[in-house]
Amino acid sequence: MLAICEDCSKKYNIDESKMKGDRARFSCQECGHIIVVVRKGAADRSDENPATQPADKSRQ
Ligand SMILES: [Zn+2]
Repeated sequence: MLAICEDCSKKYNIDESKMKGDRARFSCQECGHIIVVVRKGAADRSDENPATQPADKSRQ
């Protein structure tokens, strides 16, 4: 999944399988900003809008 530094907009490709929990944080290599990554599907009220989630996708 893609993580973007909020400070310098550098993009990182995160391997979700290497995340131990629903969240991971690391320092941006460009600016040192702490980037918090939330795994897709994890309940996160601040970053994701539930209305846009394709909740019924797996129900085909
Ligand atoms: Zn950065």
